Amino acid sequence: MVSNSLHRPTLVLNRNWQPVNVATVARALVLLWNESVRVVDPDDYQLYDWQSWSRLAPRAGEPFIRAVRQRLRVPEVIVLVEYDRVPNPAVSFSRRNIFKRDHWTCQYCGRQPGGDELTVDHVMPRSKGGVSAWNNCVLACLDCNKRKADRTPEQARIKLRRAPARPAWKPIYARAFVRIESWSKFLSEAYWSVELET
Ligand SMILES: [Zn+2]
Repeated sequence: MVSNSLHRPTLVLNRNWQPVNVATVARALVLLWNESVRVVDPDDYQLYDWQSWSRLAPRAGEPFIRAVRQRLRVPEVIVLVEYDRVPNPAVSFSRRNIFKRDHWTCQYCGRQPGGDELTVDHVMPRSKGGVSAWNNCVLACLDCNKRKADRTPEQARIKLRRAPARPAWKPIYARAFVRIESWSKFLSEAYWSVELET
């Protein structure tokens, strides 16, 4: 229960109550302890600092965190106290996010053959010192991957459609499948469905 609760997502609002990020409950509690945020009670929008939050007993059936002397309620929404304390979001480098960034499209020929026919290609091959990073990994179809083999695009005379980079979108969009009921008050339907990659 403890670790599960600490890894649950917490919606982060800026001072204008606009959603800016998703943090883990563990991070949210650190921010609360540091007085960088207040917890928002989604029922009545009341704000809690660490002192007042830690005095609340968890409600029946609600997830909680067992601390040394007490059980803490799990915050679902927090609001930043200052503008300049926005936690810096970074898109995690994962297979799933590479597929999302490259729109399930081979970055050499532009085809969309489907997930089974796509593979993550190292532009500069690993055998030549290429690293696994946003700027060196792209989706390639099996044909292009075979054609390129263990060579650079120049050596293989195959053109990369665009230079790969870390996506600009924030984890909140990548993780849109995580949906907490109380968040609906802060996020409109449009917010969830609109593609915000820039
Ligand atoms: Zn291809």
